[in-house]
Amino acid sequence: MKKSNAGPLDSVALVGNPNCGKTTLFNALTGMNGYVGNRAGVTVEKKSALTRDGCFELVDLPGIYSISPYSLEEITAHDYLLHERPRAIINIIDGTSIERGLYLTLQLIELEIPMIIVINMMDEVKARGGSIDTIRLSQRLDLPVAAISARNGDNIDSILNAVKIVLEKGSPNQISLESSIQNTLNKIYALIYNSRCGLPYSFCASKLLEKDKKIMADLCLSDEITLKVNEVVNSFEQKTGDGEMCLIDARYRYVERLCRDAVHKSEGIQKSTLSEQIDNIVTNKYLALPILAAAMALIFFLTFGAIGSLLSNALESFIFGFFSDRLRLCLDWFAVPKWLESLVLDGILSGIGAVISFLPQIAILFLCLSLLEDLGYMARAAFITDKFLQRLGLSGKCFIPMIMGLGCSTPAIMATRTQENICQRKECALLIPFVSCSAKLPIYSLFAKAFFPKHQALVILSMYAIGFALAIVIGLALKKTVFAQSNAAFIMELPAYRLPKISSVLKSTLDRCRGFIVKAGTLIFLMSIVIWFLRSFTPSLSIATAPNESIFSLLGTALAPLFTPLGFGDSKSSIALLSGLVAKEAVVSTMSVLYGASNAALSGAIVSSYTPLSAYCFMLFCLLYSPCISALATIRKELGLRWSLASAVLSFSTAYLVTFAVYQIGSLL
Ligand code: GDP
Ligand code: MG
Repeated sequence: MKKSNAGPLDSVALVGNPNCGKTTLFNALTGMNGYVGNRAGVTVEKKSALTRDGCFELVDLPGIYSISPYSLEEITAHDYLLHERPRAIINIIDGTSIERGLYLTLQLIELEIPMIIVINMMDEVKARGGSIDTIRLSQRLDLPVAAISARNGDNIDSILNAVKIVLEKGSPNQISLESSIQNTLNKIYALIYNSRCGLPYSFCASKLLEKDKKIMADLCLSDEITLKVNEVVNSFEQKTGDGEMCLIDARYRYVERLCRDAVHKSEGIQKSTLSEQIDNIVTNKYLALPILAAAMALIFFLTFGAIGSLLSNALESFIFGFFSDRLRLCLDWFAVPKWLESLVLDGILSGIGAVISFLPQIAILFLCLSLLEDLGYMARAAFITDKFLQRLGLSGKCFIPMIMGLGCSTPAIMATRTQENICQRKECALLIPFVSCSAKLPIYSLFAKAFFPKHQALVILSMYAIGFALAIVIGLALKKTVFAQSNAAFIMELPAYRLPKISSVLKSTLDRCRGFIVKAGTLIFLMSIVIWFLRSFTPSLSIATAPNESIFSLLGTALAPLFTPLGFGDSKSSIALLSGLVAKEAVVSTMSVLYGASNAALSGAIVSSYTPLSAYCFMLFCLLYSPCISALATIRKELGLRWSLASAVLSFSTAYLVTFAVYQIGSLL
C-alpha cells in the first residue's frame, strides 16, 4: 500500500469477542491508552486512532459474539461493520477459547471484507501446554493467521503488514457448511442476488434463514422474492427443523472440525483449571459474600486508613506549608497589591489545595478498583451480587456501573449502556448517584477528622453504607412503581483470572486521577475565584469590610433557612452546598475559601460552626442531595431530559427527608 497520496485513510476494524484483548492490541498498535478491563462490556463506544506507522485508521469496536443488533454493543459493531464498512477487519480471537472466536469468524467471513485472523493470548495457551497450528488454520480458512500476545507485544509487528497484503488480495472466499444447509443458503443467495441492497449477500442469506426481521426490512425485497425466500426457508425447516438452530449447529460443527485439525489442547488440566479452582472458593455459596465484603473493606481501609491519611496529610502540609510559604514570599517580593495576594492565597490556593490534598486517597481507591478489575474479580463480584440485585429488578450487570460510581457517576452512568433492557438502564442510572462518588470523599474526610477524630473510618464507612442501602430501598420502591416489569436473565461470562498488567492498571489509575486534577485546575479554580470574589465584595462591588456585608453572606443568609430544619442553617454551609451542585469537590474548596483557612486549620475552623450531629447531617446531605452537573448532563444525554430532572428531584427529596429525619430524631435523643 502506498499512502503518499492524500485522501481518507483506510479504516481497519478490530473485531472479536468481549475480553479477547481488542483494546490491548488497539493500544499496542496505536500507542493510545484505551481502557483495558478484564470483563465483558468495557468498550461500548467505538474508538479510533491512527496506527503508529500512520497507514491506517484503527477502530476498536465493542466485543460481540455474533453479528446481530440486539444489545447496544452489538448495535454499535453491527452498524459499523455493515453500513460504514471498514476496508479491512482484524479479527482477534482469544486463543484460550478459540471455538467462540472461530464461530464469530464464520460470520465475519460473510461480510465480504478483507480480513486477517489474529490469535491472541498465546502466552496463556502456551503456559497451559497447548498449541495452535496457525498454518493449517490459515490454509483451511484461506485467511492470514497470526499468533500473538497483545499484552507482551509478541509478534504484533507482523499484523499491519498482513493487513496490507490482504487489502490487495481482496475479500475472503466464502466457506461451505454442510451440504443440506449450504444448498439452502445458496438458493436464498441466488434469489436475492439482484436486489442491489448494498449489503453482503452471503450475510443476508444467513440472516434470512434465521428469519431476522431487521434484515428483511433492510433488504426491501419485492413481494415475489419475499414469497420465494419464505418458501425456501419453510421447506428447509420442514425437513430439518428451525433454521436458526440448524445454522448455529452447522457453524459449530464446522468450527469443531477446524479445531480438531489445528488446535491442540494440553492433557495437563491442572493449569487450565486454576481459574476454576479459584472460582470454587470465590463464588462459593457461603464464602462469596464474605470475600466480597472483605475485599471492599480492604480497599476502604487502604484508602481511608493509615496509608491514605498519611499520604494526604503529607501532601496537604506540603501545599499549605512549604508551597504556600514560598508563594507568599514570592508575592511579597514582587510587592503585589493586597487584594491580589488575597486572591491567590485565600482564593485560588485554598480552594485548589483543599481539593488536591485528597488526591492520594482517590488514587489509592482507583488503583485498587483497577487492580481488582484487571484481575477479573469484578466480573465475579457482578456474578455474586446478581441474585441480590435481581430482587431489585436489576441485573448483575448493574453492579459494575455501581462500583464505577464509587469513582465517578459520569462514566458509571455511561456504563449502564451495556444493559439490554431500557427499564433496567434507567433504574440503574437513577440509583448510581446514591453511590458515594470520590468527589464527596474530601467532604467526609474533612468533617470526620474535625468531629469524629476517633471514629473517622467508621463514620465515613457509614456514609457509603447509607448510600448503598438507600439505593437498594429506592430500587425496590421504583420496581414496585415505575419499573414494574419482569427481569431480564443475566448471562455473563466469567473471564479467566489474569495477572493484572501493571502498566495498564497504572495507566487507568493515572487517567482517572488526571480527570480529578484537571477538574481541580479548571472548574475548582474558577469556582474558587468566584467564591473569593463573592466573599470579598459587597453587592455594590466595594471591598467588604465586615464579613456580613459580602455578597455571599447575603445570598447565604437568604438560603440558610431552608437548611435550618436539617441542622446546618448557616450561610457558609448553604453557599458550600450551592457550589457543590457544580462539582462535589467544590464544597470543601468553598469552605476553605470562606473560612479563609487551609485544610488543617479548616478542621479547627468548622468545629465551632457545627455540632457533631449537625456535622453528620451535613455529610449525609452532601452524600445524597443531587448529582453534580456533569452527572445530570450525562443522564440527559443518555436517557433524556425527563430522567435527568427525575434524578435531581429524587435525590434532593430523598436527601432532604433523610437528613431531616436524622437531625430531628438525633436532636430528640
Ligand atoms: P477487550 O474487551 O477485547 O477490549 O479486551 P481487553 O483489551 O480489555 O483485555 C481483556 C483482558 O485480557 C485484560 O485483562 C488484558 O490485560 C488481558 N490480555 C490482553 N491481551 C493479553 C495477552 O496477550 N495475554 C494475556 N495473558 N492476557 C491478555
Ligand atoms: Mg475493549
